Amino acid sequence: MPVPDLIIRGRSVVLPNEIGPRSIYIQDGRIVALAGYSEIVSECEVIDLDDNSLVMPGLVDTHVHINSPGRTEWEGFPNATLAAAAGGVTTLIDMPLNSIPPTTTLAGFKTKLESAANNCFVDVGFWGGVVPGNTAELGPMFEAGVVGFKCFLVPSGVDEFPHVTEEDLREAMPELARLDALLIVHAELPGPMRGPIKSGGSAIDYQTFLASRPREAENEAVELMIRLSQEFGTRVHIVHLSSAEAVPVLRKAQAAGVRITAETCPHYLYFTAEEVPAGATEFKCCPPIRERENREELWQGLADGTIDFIVSDHSPCPGEIKLRESGDFMNAWGGIASLQLRLPIIWTEARRRGFTVEGLTKWLCGNPARQVSLQTRKGAIAVGNDADLVVWNTDEQFTVAARALHHRH
Ligand SMILES: [Zn+2]
Repeated sequence: MPVPDLIIRGRSVVLPNEIGPRSIYIQDGRIVALAGYSEIVSECEVIDLDDNSLVMPGLVDTHVHINSPGRTEWEGFPNATLAAAAGGVTTLIDMPLNSIPPTTTLAGFKTKLESAANNCFVDVGFWGGVVPGNTAELGPMFEAGVVGFKCFLVPSGVDEFPHVTEEDLREAMPELARLDALLIVHAELPGPMRGPIKSGGSAIDYQTFLASRPREAENEAVELMIRLSQEFGTRVHIVHLSSAEAVPVLRKAQAAGVRITAETCPHYLYFTAEEVPAGATEFKCCPPIRERENREELWQGLADGTIDFIVSDHSPCPGEIKLRESGDFMNAWGGIASLQLRLPIIWTEARRRGFTVEGLTKWLCGNPARQVSLQTRKGAIAVGNDADLVVWNTDEQFTVAARALHHRH
């Protein structure tokens, strides 16, 4: 065995098909060999892990809003990527909106790259955006390296990233199919959404907000995307699925060969609508956190593989625009910042339901890596892959404290 730069050895190394004792040989940042636990060479640095340490592939988070340039006071590359590293996330993919300019043109993508250059503590990739009228920009952005494209079917929350209609999609989807680029979709349709007045409640009552973004808005959007994916042969992915009613619909479409996948997020798998206090706008995200029984059905969707993986949808903002003082759910910014906490939150909840570290690794590492075609470098501890590792203790407990978080907010 040649002498590598570094050996990390542990009793519990999560490999694609087993968890076992290994010595991981690392050269130039890549895994060059997976040797037996006792097979170490003395001429290089050896990190010897204790018996309580689990070695997992670094987490991949394909849904992160960094907001820079333009809204850097909301979140920036140094803070976000430091939070990622602290949370075991070694690769993240930045969303095309909330930054100004948004990543909806080749020029916008170049500006984004300049903002990220020499500013990142982990590996970072980028989504482009589909907005009305930018079809001609999709090819050049894809060629320049965006991993795929995001669109919204309802207003996104920022003016410079307008949502698309079915008509806009009918223009963009043939081009995406030609590129074989993935279209990721914020799947809520405006039709079933209700304003606070019509639903008759107070804006500080969580139920008012929840009723304003009902499950039907998601269900109908998912059905639309299944239809369009079938018609155009475009690969489609539903981001941050919250309505569990869409799970059987997706399952049926997947079984019929439609190229559609879905993700969900820690906030939908941990919190429940019943527990959100009045005026607690820190719980606001879109689509909303739903009822307890909905949460359990999302876990079932993960268990049977209909939902492919779990991402943070890290979307911070300055505290003031969460409107915590007035507690106005209807006007507060929607977004939850959890980039640093996805692993402990999901492990806490997964373990309670009898899921294993293998399941966790699939949801947090392997499946998101494959989604953005990084499976030959990321998401698994395997020879030839980048040596992106997270070492943690599955039994350790801690209380989340704001001062330990590296997010800007
Ligand atoms: Zn998002």
